[in-house]
Amino acid sequence: MQEDRRVLIAGGGPVGLFCALLLGRQGIPVRVFDANPDLQDDPRAATTHPATLEVLDEAGLVDDLIAAGLVAPIFQFWDRPTNTKVAEFDHAILKDDTKFPFVVQTEQFKTSRIIMKRLLALPNVEVLFNHAVTHVTQDAGSVTVTVESHGKTSTHKGAYLIGADGGRSTVRKQCEIAFEGFTWEERFLVLTTPFDFAANRGFCYRTYIADPAEWCNCFKVAADGPPGLWRTVFPTDTSLSEEQVMSDEAVQTRLQTFFPLDRPYEIVHRNLYTTHQRVAATFRKGRVLLAGDSAHVNNSIGGMGLNGGLQDAANVSEKLSKVILGGGGDDLLELYSLQRRTVSIEFVQAQSIANKKRLEARDAETRQKNFAELSETAADPAKAREFLLKASMISMQRRAASITGPDSI
Ligand SMILES: Cc1cc2nc3c(=O)[nH]c(=O)nc-3n(C[C@H](O)[C@H](O)[C@H](O)COP(=O)(O)OP(=O)(O)OC[C@H]3O[C@@H](n4cnc5c(N)ncnc54)[C@H](O)[C@@H]3O)c2cc1C
Repeated sequence: MQEDRRVLIAGGGPVGLFCALLLGRQGIPVRVFDANPDLQDDPRAATTHPATLEVLDEAGLVDDLIAAGLVAPIFQFWDRPTNTKVAEFDHAILKDDTKFPFVVQTEQFKTSRIIMKRLLALPNVEVLFNHAVTHVTQDAGSVTVTVESHGKTSTHKGAYLIGADGGRSTVRKQCEIAFEGFTWEERFLVLTTPFDFAANRGFCYRTYIADPAEWCNCFKVAADGPPGLWRTVFPTDTSLSEEQVMSDEAVQTRLQTFFPLDRPYEIVHRNLYTTHQRVAATFRKGRVLLAGDSAHVNNSIGGMGLNGGLQDAANVSEKLSKVILGGGGDDLLELYSLQRRTVSIEFVQAQSIANKKRLEARDAETRQKNFAELSETAADPAKAREFLLKASMISMQRRAASITGPDSI
């Protein structure tokens, strides 16, 4: 019976779809449920790091991703009060560590579309939109989900369930898995504009700007083709309401204060995000596995959330395929949880928090220390390589691969 081998996936975001592709290609029957009527078009993740490009390359997706995005070998740190460039890092130094010594700036919805196009060629994979998973039960041999679609309820049985249903994961909650960590008080405001920060300000495609009063990330995406769009990310004042932060006047003032201009900015998107640092207490409960934002969330400085999720997808799909097709026992699923949860905490959580603290540091001494460290690191090839191995998530993937059991942590 198909059910004996079927993998159910809650969530048709990029992580759920990538799991479906990798499992589907092994001939495993897969059914994906997504609560939305269609693929998300939310402009969230943009940066795909070298370690993830390697994973996508193995899946034959990297050429499409590069064609849809911008190749960005360099990133910079600036100091806003003095308007100076503090440090510049070039991924070229990783040429012996990776086939991809650069990041690719491709919007998340494009990545999903690239994967979806491949999924359509797999008759053993079903993607059901407008299907929200509401309940999860499991026994020794199977897992069952209850799904709501257009006011009707149905149940679906499978051998395993992957919860890739985002930060508010119903699957995680149904399995009573704690989501440990905290939520930042301030929210992150993203304003997208065609204003060219490279030509007018000398910024590169990924620019991090430190400021004790209001940090900013500024990066470029390809959008619908040249000339592309620039996204600026700011922290918000916690005393202001969403309406106050998002009004036309407020967003113009914010951009004009940061980057004065003799005319109003054209703003094509404005989005406000609550930001968390949380990791699930386990990525596996019996026949249920968590991947992507359902397993871990972090602030977007450094662009690591989806990267981590796509790496989870590759890891869990490889192990689950072995378990289902023969070639590995359930202990592989425990290893998935151990490897990915450990690196989520050691790398993504630690780095994204450190990245934020570096940009927002208020104390003059700390700021000077940060800047000295960054410029010394950038100037020293050995230190720069170490720094970039972490930023590019290569160290994280190497660490995950080195974990063979609880004793190796
Ligand atoms: C401003 C911003 C910038 C970012 N930039 C980057 C970046 O540069 N690089 C990076 O790596 N990451 C970045 N991220 C993080 C990235 O967006 C997330 O990590 C990514 O969306 C996670 O993908 P996912 O598939 O796990 O979850 P999601 O994209 O959240 O997808 C979850 C899917 O599950 C569906 N769903 C939810 N509940 C149910 C249910 N009950 N039943 C069925 N379906 C359900 C939803 O409809 C959705 O389609 C950024 C995030 C933000 C906010």
